[in-house]
Amino acid sequence: MTPVRLVILAVLFYIGYRLLRSMLLQQLEKKSSAGKKESKVEDVLVEDPVCHTLIPKKQAVRLRRDGKTYYFCSEKCCDTFTDNPEGEL
Ligand SMILES: [Zn+2]
Repeated sequence: MTPVRLVILAVLFYIGYRLLRSMLLQQLEKKSSAGKKESKVEDVLVEDPVCHTLIPKKQAVRLRRDGKTYYFCSEKCCDTFTDNPEGEL
């Protein structure tokens, strides 16, 4: 076997692996989302109003203020936000 063939085989194997993996993940997602609505929330990206980083909603630090929910990438950004006067950001 030539090295080129080996590379092609490796690439094909990798693509196959990725396809299989994504298929399995999709099936798992379908199963879990049937019972829970939360799994959809994971995919939603929210913007940190302090540093404007996009973070998955589930991982974000939440802060409720004036009936609104704000999401932050870290406690630090949450603190910066709370320390700032209204309308500053
Ligand atoms: Zn941040």
